[in-house]
Amino acid sequence: MTIAIYPGSFDPITNGHLGIATRAAKLFEKVVIGVYDKPNKHLIFTTEERVELARQSVAHLPNVAVEPFTGLSVNFAKTMGARAMVRGLRMSADFEREFDMAMMNKKLSPQVDVVCLMADLKYQFLSSTLLKEVASLSGDIDDLVPKPVAEALRRKYLANRNCTETG
Ligand code: ADP
Repeated sequence: MTIAIYPGSFDPITNGHLGIATRAAKLFEKVVIGVYDKPNKHLIFTTEERVELARQSVAHLPNVAVEPFTGLSVNFAKTMGARAMVRGLRMSADFEREFDMAMMNKKLSPQVDVVCLMADLKYQFLSSTLLKEVASLSGDIDDLVPKPVAEALRRKYLANRNCTETG
């Protein structure tokens, strides 16, 4: 079976990520979205929440699974029996970083190939970071994320606002 992993922070998963996972699911027999537990980023969702939101978002894709992982993504690929690692490329933001990471991963694990898919035109500008900023300011994010994610963001920022007001 040709298995691919799609690793990332997914804090939270967006329609941009979902587009990449959907297309990867047509190229590989099985795709495992790997939710990295400790990215060097400010997270608003726990690993369990990020996994659960990703699972709900890909429930309609029978050959896509979601698992948390810790440590190197190439080791996660090995554990999953994957020969490929999928990444999404936005026009301006991603190439240099993805290129460096792909070179390093190739050195660490030559048997795993990185497969980059171009981000969908309508999600080129979309990042989890920008999404969180807009959601925190009560902006409309409904057509940028799967429904469970929109609801989770609203709950999260409503809870934060209530804490700030009462605290
Ligand atoms: P990381 O912290 O590794 O950048 P992310 O969760 O932000 O993880 O993203 C995981 C992967 O999805 C990366 O390859 C990233 O470039 C890609 N990606 C992020 N946003 C989008 C988007 N809007 N469209 C397509 N791919 C995206």
